[in-house]
Amino acid sequence: MTKTYTDKFPIDAFQQNLIEWFQREQRDLPWRKEKNAYKTWVSEIMLQQTKVDTVIPYFYDFMDKFPTLEALANASEQEVLKTWEGLGYYSRARNLQTAVREVVEDYNGQVPNTAEELGKLKGIGPYTKGAILSIAFDIPEPAVDGNVMRVFSRILKIEEDIAKPSTRKIFEAAVRELISEEDPSSFNQGLMELGALICKPKNPDCLLCPVQQYCKAFDEGIENLLPIKTKGKNKRTEPYAVLLIRDEKGRVLVQQRPEKGLLANLWEFPMAPLTDLDLQSIPNWFYGEYGIEVEIHEKEKDVRHVFSHIIWELNAYNATVLSGDLDHARARFCTKEELDMLPFPVSHQKLLSTL
Ligand code: SF4
Repeated sequence: MTKTYTDKFPIDAFQQNLIEWFQREQRDLPWRKEKNAYKTWVSEIMLQQTKVDTVIPYFYDFMDKFPTLEALANASEQEVLKTWEGLGYYSRARNLQTAVREVVEDYNGQVPNTAEELGKLKGIGPYTKGAILSIAFDIPEPAVDGNVMRVFSRILKIEEDIAKPSTRKIFEAAVRELISEEDPSSFNQGLMELGALICKPKNPDCLLCPVQQYCKAFDEGIENLLPIKTKGKNKRTEPYAVLLIRDEKGRVLVQQRPEKGLLANLWEFPMAPLTDLDLQSIPNWFYGEYGIEVEIHEKEKDVRHVFSHIIWELNAYNATVLSGDLDHARARFCTKEELDMLPFPVSHQKLLSTL
């Protein structure tokens, strides 16, 4: 099947043009300054679902705090989450630390350089595995993400639906046919860079493209019709009243989220689900859940946050404690200084800034 896509394709010339272009035009990024498997690993995890410009300051800060695998393995989870605060998709940070601890314990602190061993580590999927093997160890392994599927769908005119998980295999096989054995690092990074800078989702800059002469989509004038991607399922909207509750000393009530699931172990303000409650019934509900009576005042702010499957509509209200003793295992009143030490998800950070 793949052979039909790569049949008669001028592999050597394509590799050469792509690699030379990458070496000439690549952006100066902090994780590209040296070959270091740990840095490649951290950068690739941070770059999942996050733009390069956003990642750069986080990467510097992370390397400052956890310069080695050992430093990250020995850090507390809260410290790691605090450093990750604002990057989102926090399970990435937790999985990274779990996997790094495994490397320190089971692999003598050396990032493994085989597909089999790397693939067993938590949070390392086929893309990250291919990126680490090729970039840090010069092993010709495909690293296929949405960017690379877009570029390859156009160059080879692959009209399979990239929203289907099974389609990735078709692209991996195509990359395996075309990847440079001599310089797989520049080849894979060249594809990623091409997707980021030239072969963009909308209106690719074909006239500046270093591999335009091999591109079937450009040849047929269909670059804007590829890749084929069907729409995913609709997201579910969840409305909440978020309570910014102050006690008589001016401290604010926050709670730690459950140990598992969405935003696990991060901190947040109490959230009353508005699918089950209206504003009037919240004080009653709150007393049942937390053991204190509160008075709800004016609305402070609205925040909308989109996750991959859910949308949170947060309506934040100021509130004060009237009476009672806090009775909730994961909640506590904190001063401003204490709040600054805790990791919050992005949506609640936006509310934090109003305090
Ligand atoms: Fe993408 Fe255009 Fe280059 Fe083809 S010619 S790879 S569509 S930028």
